[in-house]
Amino acid sequence: MTIPQLPLIEPAPDAGQPPADGRAHLLDPGAGLEPSLASLGEPAWRARAIRRWLFQRRADSFTAMTDLPRPLRERLAERFTIWTTSIAAHKTAEDGTEKLLLELADGHRIECVLLRDGVRRTVCISSQVGCAMGCVFCASGIDGVVRNLSTGEIVEQLLRLALLLPAEERLSHVVVMGMGEPLANLDRLLPALAVARDPDGLGISQRRITISTVGLPPAIDRLVELDAGYNLAVSLHAADDELRTRLVPVNKAIGLDAVMTAADRYWEASGRRLTFEYVLLGEVNDSQADADRLARLLGGRAALVNVIPYNPVAGMPWKEPSRQAVERFLEVLTAAGVNVQVRRRKGARIDAACGQLRRAAAAQLR
Ligand code: SAH
Repeated sequence: MTIPQLPLIEPAPDAGQPPADGRAHLLDPGAGLEPSLASLGEPAWRARAIRRWLFQRRADSFTAMTDLPRPLRERLAERFTIWTTSIAAHKTAEDGTEKLLLELADGHRIECVLLRDGVRRTVCISSQVGCAMGCVFCASGIDGVVRNLSTGEIVEQLLRLALLLPAEERLSHVVVMGMGEPLANLDRLLPALAVARDPDGLGISQRRITISTVGLPPAIDRLVELDAGYNLAVSLHAADDELRTRLVPVNKAIGLDAVMTAADRYWEASGRRLTFEYVLLGEVNDSQADADRLARLLGGRAALVNVIPYNPVAGMPWKEPSRQAVERFLEVLTAAGVNVQVRRRKGARIDAACGQLRRAAAAQLR
C-alpha cells in the first residue's frame, strides 16, 4: 500500500514561549506537575488531587483548591498558571449555544463553542490558529494558518467551556470542528483528547469524541494504528475530484480516492461508523447530479452523511442552498439507501461557525 505524500502541506509552526512570566501551563499534561511536587517534598497523590480539582471540581485558581495546604498552593501558583488565555468575547444565543473568543498569550485569537441539545452538552474546539487547508467557503482559512495550538491551549478550551455549565452538568461530547485542521496538529491534539477521556480528567468516552478532518490519509493511518476509538468525520463537499479540488484546494495533492480508502481503513480498524460532511453551497455542489455522484461514491459504505447548509461568511461569494435544493439532495441520498442528516444550525446569529466570530471581532477593531 502506498500512502500518497502531501507536498502542499507544510507543518504549521508551534506555539512560541509559554506565558511571559515563565510559569508552566498546568493544563498541559507535560507541564511537569509531578516532578515539581516531588521537589517540594509532596506525595505523588497530590497530582491526582490537583487534576480532580481542575477537571471535576472546576477550581479556577489554586486559591480555590481549599484542601491543599496554603503554602503549597502559594508555591504552585509561583510555578504554574492554570489559564493562558483571556476571554475576548462571550456570546450567548437564544437556543443556549455559547461561544467564546479566546485571546491567547501571544495575542492571537481562537474560538470555541458550547452547544446544548437535550441532555447533550457538546463542545466544539479549535486545533490551530487559522488553517492551511484553504477551503474556499470557510472563514478560518482566509488568512492561512498562523500556528498550531499547544496541548494546554486545547485543554483550556474544554475547561473554559465546562466552566459555563452549572455544577450539576457535565460536558458529554467533544467535536474537534472549530478552527484549524486537527489532523495537521495530531501531536498536540491527542494528549489533549487523552485528558478529555481520562476518568481523572473530564471522563468523556472516546465514543463521544469526534475529530473532523479535510481528509489527510497519512494522519488518518496514524489514527488507525493508535486505535484510539474516536469518531472520524471526513469533510467531502464534493464527490468528484474536479469540484472537490475547486472547493477544497488541498484535494489536488491527495485526491478523493486516497481520502476514501483511508476512511475505509479507519472504519475497518475501528468499527466506528464513518461520517462524511458535505457543506451545501447554493448552485455549486447541490444539484441532483451532485447528489447522485455522492450516493454512488458512498455506495455500500456504512456511512452517515452530515449535510450542512452553507453558513454565509461576510465578503464571500457563496450562497445558501435553496430549501428545494436541500430537500432534493436529501431525497436522492435517502432513496439510494444512504443515511443522511441535516445539521441544524445552532447559534448562527452569534457567528458560531468556524472562524466567523474571530473575523467579525477583527473587523470591528479595524
Ligand atoms: N478542518 C476540519 C475541521 C474544521 S471545519 C475539516 O475540514 O473538517 C468543520 C466543518 O465545518 C467542515 O466540514 C467545514 O467544511 C465546515 N464549514 C466551514 N465553513 C463553513 C461555513 N461557512 N458554512 C458551513 N460549514 C462550514
